[in-house]
Amino acid sequence: MKVKSEMGSIPVVFADRFFMSEKSLSDIAALGGFFWADSRDHEELAKRLAGSASVRVIVSEYIKINSQVLEQAPGLRGVIAYGAGYDHIDVESLAKRGILLCNCRGENSQAVAELTFGVLLCLLRRINRADRWIRENEWPKAGRILPEWIVGHELQGKTLGIIGLGQIGSRVARIARGFDMKILVYDPFALPVANPSCQVETPPLEELLSSADIITLHVPLTSATKRMINARALAVMKPEALLINTSRGQVIDEPVLVEALKQNRIAGAALDVCAGEPLSGDHPLCMMENVVLSPHMGALTQEASERLSAAVARQVRDILEGRSPECLIKTMNSE
Ligand code: NAD
Repeated sequence: MKVKSEMGSIPVVFADRFFMSEKSLSDIAALGGFFWADSRDHEELAKRLAGSASVRVIVSEYIKINSQVLEQAPGLRGVIAYGAGYDHIDVESLAKRGILLCNCRGENSQAVAELTFGVLLCLLRRINRADRWIRENEWPKAGRILPEWIVGHELQGKTLGIIGLGQIGSRVARIARGFDMKILVYDPFALPVANPSCQVETPPLEELLSSADIITLHVPLTSATKRMINARALAVMKPEALLINTSRGQVIDEPVLVEALKQNRIAGAALDVCAGEPLSGDHPLCMMENVVLSPHMGALTQEASERLSAAVARQVRDILEGRSPECLIKTMNSE
C-alpha cells in the first residue's frame, strides 16, 4: 500500500486521527496516496501543509479547517468532515474559494441513536451507579434491602421531546416507538415524516420543553442552536424531566445546566458531549449522581466506523475524479 510519511506529492491529507479501514486506505492509496497529519490543531495542520500544491482533499474529524489552513493548500478541491457534524469547518471560507464541502451523514446515525437510549437507560435505571455500588462491595452490606435510589422509571408511556429530526433524531423516534413512548418533535426544517410507524406531534419549542418527560437533542451546532438550551428553556422544563445530549456540547448553556441540576430544577442529564472536551475529572458535572457522562463516543461502533471510512474513500474518489461527492453540503458556490 502506498502510504507516505511526508506530504510530497500526496493528494489526500487526514488532518487528525480517526478510524479508516485497510480496504478504504488501500482504495485511497491507489488514487495517489494519503498522509496522516495527526495535528493537534489547525495551526499545526497549516504548518504541515506548508503550501503543498499537491493536496486536493483534506479529511478532518475535529481540526478546524479555516482560511489559515486553506491558504496552505492552494490546490485543494474538497474538504470531507469525518462524521455528520461540520461545525469545525469554516463553510464561508471554503465557498469563497470554490472548495467543495461534504460530510458522511447517515453513516453513524444508528450508532448515535442507540447510544442515546444507552445513556438514557443508565440515567433512568441508575445502572452506572448500581454497578459502582456493587464493585465498592456495598451489596453484601445491604443484603436484600436495596437502597431507595435504585428504584428507577420506565420509558413506556413517557413523552419524549426530540429537538432535531434529521438522520439521528428520526432513528431515535423509531426506537422510541418500540418503547411505547409518545413523541414530540421540534424541527422547523425537517421534511415531513413519511414513515407512519414514526408519527409524531410537532408543538412549538416551548410547549415541547414544558410537556416532555425526556428531552433529547439532535441538532447541528449553528448560531441558531448554540445555547438553545439556556436558562429560559430549563426554567420551563418539568422538575422530573431528563435532558439527553448526544449532539454538541455548546447547544446547552452548560454552567446554567449545572446550576439547574444542583438545585434539582430538572431531574437529571445524560451527556455524550460537553461544551469543553475533553472534560476534566474535577468538572462539576462529574460530581453529580443525577448525571451520566460518556466521552463523545456516540458514533464509535465498529459498524459505523466501517461505513464512515468507506464513505470517506468514495467521496475522496469523487472529488479527485471531478464528480460531485454523495454527501455534498450545499454552499453558495456549490448549489
Ligand atoms: P442531520 O443534519 O441529519 O439532522 C439535524 C436536524 O436538525 C435536521 O433535521 C435540521 O432540520 C435540524 N435543525 C437544524 N437547526 C435546527 C434548529 N434551530 N431547531 C431545530 N432543529 C434544527 O444531522 P444528524 O446526522 O442527525 O446529526 C445531528 C448532530 O449530531 C450533528 O450535527 C452532530 O453535531 C451530532 N453528532 C454527534 C455524534 C456523537 O458522537 N455524539 C455523532 C454524530 C453526530
